[in-house]
Amino acid sequence: MPLTRRNFIQMVPASAAALTLTGGAKAAEPIHHVTVLGGGFAGCTVAKYLRMWSNGEIAVTLIEPNSNHVSCIMSNLILNKRLKTTDLTFEYNDLQVKYGVEVIHDRAKRIRGPQKQLRLKEAGWVSYDSLVVATGIQFDNIPGQDFRKVPHAWIAGGQSNNLRNKINKMPDTGTFVMTVPKAPYRCPPGPYERACIVADILGRRSGYLDGSGSVAPRVIVLDANPGIMAEKGTFTSAFNDLYGDIIEYIPNAQVESVDSDNLIVNTSQGSFAGDVLNVIPTHGAQNILRVSGLTGDSRWADVDPVTYASTNTLFQDVYVIGDAQGTGQPKSGHMANAQAKICADSIIRTAHGLSSYTEERLQNITTNSACFSPITYDQASWLTAVYSYNPDTGSMGLVPGSLGEAHNWSSRNFNDMFTWSDNLFADTFK
Ligand SMILES: Cc1cc2nc3c(=O)[nH]c(=O)nc-3n(C[C@H](O)[C@H](O)[C@H](O)COP(=O)(O)OP(=O)(O)OC[C@H]3O[C@@H](n4cnc5c(N)ncnc54)[C@H](O)[C@@H]3O)c2cc1C
Repeated sequence: MPLTRRNFIQMVPASAAALTLTGGAKAAEPIHHVTVLGGGFAGCTVAKYLRMWSNGEIAVTLIEPNSNHVSCIMSNLILNKRLKTTDLTFEYNDLQVKYGVEVIHDRAKRIRGPQKQLRLKEAGWVSYDSLVVATGIQFDNIPGQDFRKVPHAWIAGGQSNNLRNKINKMPDTGTFVMTVPKAPYRCPPGPYERACIVADILGRRSGYLDGSGSVAPRVIVLDANPGIMAEKGTFTSAFNDLYGDIIEYIPNAQVESVDSDNLIVNTSQGSFAGDVLNVIPTHGAQNILRVSGLTGDSRWADVDPVTYASTNTLFQDVYVIGDAQGTGQPKSGHMANAQAKICADSIIRTAHGLSSYTEERLQNITTNSACFSPITYDQASWLTAVYSYNPDTGSMGLVPGSLGEAHNWSSRNFNDMFTWSDNLFADTFK
């Protein structure tokens, strides 16, 4: 539903208006109204759980510019055609019909913390009681990069299809050049997983992997970081052993500019030309957080991990979850889902006049992350980590011994990947 001046009344705080829940039934007066920005992993989870755990006492409005969400998770499988974007597309119907979340398609442009107001592209300034910001990432501008010619494919959808089509058309023994952004970035193993998938596609197509072709295609991985950032053992082994003649890994390569017409990327380690160029720019929180002052001098928003409330005192009742927050936990959809539940629980407590800082709750502030990485057409590895709250430092720390990695890539892991992602998708969107 587009937000217009006429239905603006639905956006005003709970103290001033009751929301109409789906199905036409007039809801009881809500005790609180939460506006959520962004309908991705973090935003949909918090919207759903706020409604579910408050037994409908909290009204939730979700603001999202797109009519559906295409999951980045599993989107590397669009490149080798194991999946289509439609397999990873989630509608907002369930949130609306099953949970009574009001969904409005608009884009948030600015937040005024002291006034508790939000500016939307279509509807202009509106007020909020509590605001959860879950708007994901924004890419740095790289001089010369035209995303149509040099896709990032790091926000899924049209970009993933664009990159797949370019790989489809490139010569079987051609050169694919990709970059890894400076950490922290979205999905630590994701770029290395992409390198493997592309090496597998080209290695099969050229016949090099089964010995029927003698010329190896090339996949050049230009990493802005000093080394592989996740599953180091797995990816080192995949790069050296499985795809040894195909993948060339170059660390400490900072991207300086791109020539989008001639498909050349200029880096601190030299210039590289490819038949296909996939430059994933370094990123930070979306512009709305930066222009509103929520990120301060950082790229990400500083929050209290007990509540996910902004630590900026000008932004009372503003929470930031998912990739946009800056607690140092990995930027993953699984993690975004976990943070959203902690945030929802805290908002519900606050709405009931209860504390989020009870000893028992503080001991149970735990999040976890899981990433599955396809390494070949039908084999995958995985990585998990658990984080818990440390009251002494007020921050989240990796639980000792919790970092788990697959011993090797296997078809069993590949199958488990679908079970895991189906569960996460259902818990988030359905
Ligand atoms: C190739 C790849 C593989 C991945 N694999 C995994 C994996 O195996 N496991 C895992 O856990 N994670 C994985 N991830 C990471 C995961 O996709 C992200 O961490 C996750 O999407 C972050 O969730 P989010 O809600 O913060 O952001 P998003 O899911 O990106 O959602 C943000 C939403 O906000 C909306 N939005 C943006 N700006 C505004 C605005 N101004 N106003 C309103 N709405 C706005 C966007 O349209 C979007 O719908 C992968 C990522 C990639 C790219």
